[in-house]
Amino acid sequence: MSALSIFKEVTHWRTGERMTFAVEDGVVVPAPRTIPEHARVIHANGAVIAPGLVDLHVHLREPGQSAKETIETGTRAAAAGGFTAIACMPNTDPVIDTAAWVEWVRRRAEAAGHCQVLPIAAVTVGQKGEQLAPLDALWHAGAVAFSDDGHPVHSAAVMRRALEYARPTGLPIICHEEDPSLKGDGVMNEGFTATRLGLRGIPGVAESIMCRRDADLADLTNGRVHLAHLSAAQSFDALRDAKRRGLPVTGETCPHYWVLTDEAVGDYDTYAKMNPPLRSEEDRAACIAAIIDGTIDCFATDHAPHTEDEKERPFTDAPFGIVGLETALALTITYLVEPGHLSLARAIELWTDAPRRIFKLPEVTLEPGTQADLVLFDPAAQWVVDPTKFYTKGRNTPFGGWTLQGRVLATLHEGRFTHVADDVVFERPSAVTESAR
Ligand SMILES: [Zn+2]
Repeated sequence: MSALSIFKEVTHWRTGERMTFAVEDGVVVPAPRTIPEHARVIHANGAVIAPGLVDLHVHLREPGQSAKETIETGTRAAAAGGFTAIACMPNTDPVIDTAAWVEWVRRRAEAAGHCQVLPIAAVTVGQKGEQLAPLDALWHAGAVAFSDDGHPVHSAAVMRRALEYARPTGLPIICHEEDPSLKGDGVMNEGFTATRLGLRGIPGVAESIMCRRDADLADLTNGRVHLAHLSAAQSFDALRDAKRRGLPVTGETCPHYWVLTDEAVGDYDTYAKMNPPLRSEEDRAACIAAIIDGTIDCFATDHAPHTEDEKERPFTDAPFGIVGLETALALTITYLVEPGHLSLARAIELWTDAPRRIFKLPEVTLEPGTQADLVLFDPAAQWVVDPTKFYTKGRNTPFGGWTLQGRVLATLHEGRFTHVADDVVFERPSAVTESAR
């Protein structure tokens, strides 16, 4: 007997149409007129069905840093957040800079089975910024992009050569933009809060100067540049200018940059310490403006788990980064859709089709005949963020205790349920078949 799942009363993410949705043996099928007895049924009560979310900036921490996260826990957290594909960063121990490590990550991810994992390989050997990694071999092994994320590629000459060597692969270089001399030993945004706390600041131009340099190098080489986790008003302007010039430059931003400012650091709260840092209210407004006008190509979480011991260190010594997979969709709905900055359909597009385009991944639709790769979420449901209930090992979120709107009910990847929220009730219809409408 086939495995048939029926989702009654779902809302299509793009058309807004109310419908019955069916998945049989992992494949989307037309909803049957009557529900067979063996089917399992979810009453969605108007919840939205959308293609599975994609996060192209995740730190899974393996190999080598499994105290912070593992491929198993990180991908499980992704499924809980509604993601069916994530790209993982190579700043691990050792760095993912060989074909063998790319293959190792892919095998581990397949064994975990919670979502698709797209490995990003290093630009330079050991991410040291000196000698180019074997980009062609990394591409053949399955890398979807190259990045020294965690660090900038300091040398413009090295970046130029990386763009030239990456060009035949068609893959982008994902750039963590910060000018090391301007960043110095800064630990948070340069501004009033840093002054009040006596902490070294990092100005927004430390990011934007490098964005402009790499846009010019994209112009010179015709290689693809993707600007990671943009945070500063000047950087959004830099990306806007690059697009006006028709350069092969794209960019992402993360939920914390449209929700928070550097005031969240409060009294040395290390859960508000990330790199690039939370910035001013003007930067936050510029971030939202860049999302609205299409300057920002897609969203990403920069999910960066750390142990509690590490985050309990004094502010200057604690590592940069927060977790993000399990709050991303709710922060998008609560702070972009609810205030009217974006339609729900556009917001979902920035988590689905948009990142797929950057990695040239096939589009996922909800059409009959395709493998089910989807998320079911209630855009109106409110919930309180409880980090102790996260699937990620990381508890380092500034949103603990916050009430957010928008809750993932179920995720399906490759036709299988990879996440079902605790309170979702599957029911079997009675022996008498009922209308599927
Ligand atoms: Zn980074």
